[in-house]
Amino acid sequence: MHAIRIDRIGGPEVLTFVDIAPPTAPPGGVLVRQSAAGINFIDVYLRTGVYPWPLPFVPGREGAGVVEAVGQGVTGIEVGQRVAYTQPTSGGYAELNAVDLRFVVPVPDDIDDRTACALMLQGMTAHYLAIDTFPLKPGAVALIHAAAGGVGLLLVQIAKSRGARVIATVGTDEKAVLARAAGADDVVVYAEHDFAEVTRELVGAHGVDVAYDSVGKDTWERSLAVLKPRGMLVIFGGASGPVPPINVSALAAGGSLYLTRPTLGDFTRTRDEVLGRARDLFAMVREGKLEARIGAAYPLASAAEAQRDLEARATTGKLLLVP
Ligand code: NDP
Repeated sequence: MHAIRIDRIGGPEVLTFVDIAPPTAPPGGVLVRQSAAGINFIDVYLRTGVYPWPLPFVPGREGAGVVEAVGQGVTGIEVGQRVAYTQPTSGGYAELNAVDLRFVVPVPDDIDDRTACALMLQGMTAHYLAIDTFPLKPGAVALIHAAAGGVGLLLVQIAKSRGARVIATVGTDEKAVLARAAGADDVVVYAEHDFAEVTRELVGAHGVDVAYDSVGKDTWERSLAVLKPRGMLVIFGGASGPVPPINVSALAAGGSLYLTRPTLGDFTRTRDEVLGRARDLFAMVREGKLEARIGAAYPLASAAEAQRDLEARATTGKLLLVP
């Protein structure tokens, strides 16, 4: 089968298009013939060695397609069934991937494969952030960085559907249009304006209830500074680089602030939790409350170009590979 393999840590050029033996259906899992493989920022951290991973490996943690084979002991999923998944292992940038049943989500007839794929890693992330990490309520003010990105566009929409006021940050005017269309009340182009200053102008001395920060190094300090007393900083990524060690006294000085660094794995601990989040997301799409915007779909062989674009902040919404 065709796949993308990484033999050494490095730039996008280490993403090599190869012909390798396909995996088989694992015990307790299924083999998925993929029509779409998701690209996520974590794929960049793994390729560059920010998160160490044994070499060589086929990157990619997300996909959608049809069950090709069912492993030993699996019940309730059949060959030919449409499924999607996100799993905390590798193997996604390929025609076929072996997926543990715990992460397999049956896809309803009215949800297309690309949408289903987009809702797995980035959708479930936006879901747990808005519903569990900081449960947004009507009237809560949320600051959301990188709001035109994969997670960002979904998080803005879910936050709005829960009645929150959303202040969004984006890198360009074009991205601002997308964030606004997703429902953001105010949008700051943080490449040109100091988002902390603008946020204070917008909400006064009160500050925001929660800052969802996936940009990290370049933003965390000012995200912390615009929280209201007892507000929460949710650092869930570091697209600009990792956040340095934080002095806990800063949380007292800011007004008994909360700080958390959540990961998807801790919010998808059981199959029921995975299926529950997927069900909610599919329902939101069906009700017209959520749109998974596919920013670009690249041929599998162009994975390097796709990751180059992602790192260069040149993309919006969900990026897919088409095997
Ligand atoms: P995005 O589509 O959001 O792409 C990343 C975006 O980050 C860019 O488009 C850019 O938007 C912004 N950015 C700001 N500074 C930089 C920089 N120096 N280099 C690159 N990008 C930068 O990616 P994803 O939706 O896949 O992921 C978004 C974030 O969420 C990532 O940090 C990822 O690690 C994190 N994440 C965390 C999870 C968790 O459970 N903890 C799960 C899923 C994702 P702009 O130009 O508008 O600034």
